[in-house]
Amino acid sequence: KADSPPSSFTLDAIGRIESDYPDKFGIPRQPGLVRASRARLVLLPPYDDPLTVRALEDFSHLWLTFVFHRSPTRWTPLVRPPRLGGNAKVGVFASRSTHRPNRLGLSLVELTGIDTSKGVRLGLRGHDLLDGTPVLDIKPYLPWAESLPEARTGFAPEAPPQRPVVFTSEVEAMLAARSDGDSLRELITQVLAQDPRPAYRNGVEDRRYGLRLRDVDVRFRAEADASGEIILRVVEV
Ligand code: SAH
Repeated sequence: KADSPPSSFTLDAIGRIESDYPDKFGIPRQPGLVRASRARLVLLPPYDDPLTVRALEDFSHLWLTFVFHRSPTRWTPLVRPPRLGGNAKVGVFASRSTHRPNRLGLSLVELTGIDTSKGVRLGLRGHDLLDGTPVLDIKPYLPWAESLPEARTGFAPEAPPQRPVVFTSEVEAMLAARSDGDSLRELITQVLAQDPRPAYRNGVEDRRYGLRLRDVDVRFRAEADASGEIILRVVEV
């Protein structure tokens, strides 16, 4: 047809994320798994007009559409979801992979507050967003229209197993000395409980992993407790 609709579009980031996650390693695979993770969505001009968020405070959760700006622009028809151990391949549109055409992400996050004193900044909790993530759209979550617990989910297992997390006494002392020690301890515990290591490394290993959270570099090891269960020990922060 002569007037076929356009098939490529230019989109404008309406805001940017400031979060506790400076690196991809360690970010939970979906929102809601680490309730302690906090972020701020700072709206960008000209969208930072308080009128754009009038009555948004009446909603507890938001859908954020964003760009996986730290993923490659190259995409492939098949991807290897980490939850499947990194070997099984499924179609990119049957996954929530970050390597996808247009690199669009979609996350359901908790809205904790709106600050319009200087521009517009939204407080978020339980997110899975890298610091600096450009956001394209914000929509209020409508459970009556969107919550479908009976939906079939194919290969995607429900939330992965939680690992017990322990801290050495030196780390406990370091956390106790910080004013945000309690919230940092909670964040580290909930992030490590997801066992951020690559799925094929889920046993005991004689190596230390490092991951950056907030302004610290967390070093941890995977050990087995008396019953042989894997626990993650934070040895340095
Ligand atoms: N809930 C979203 C994201 C799922 S994948 C969706 O379904 O679309 C979650 C992973 O995206 C996180 O573990 C993190 O490593 C990665 N991620 C988050 N923000 C990103 C960004 N800006 N660029 C690239 N990867 C990102």
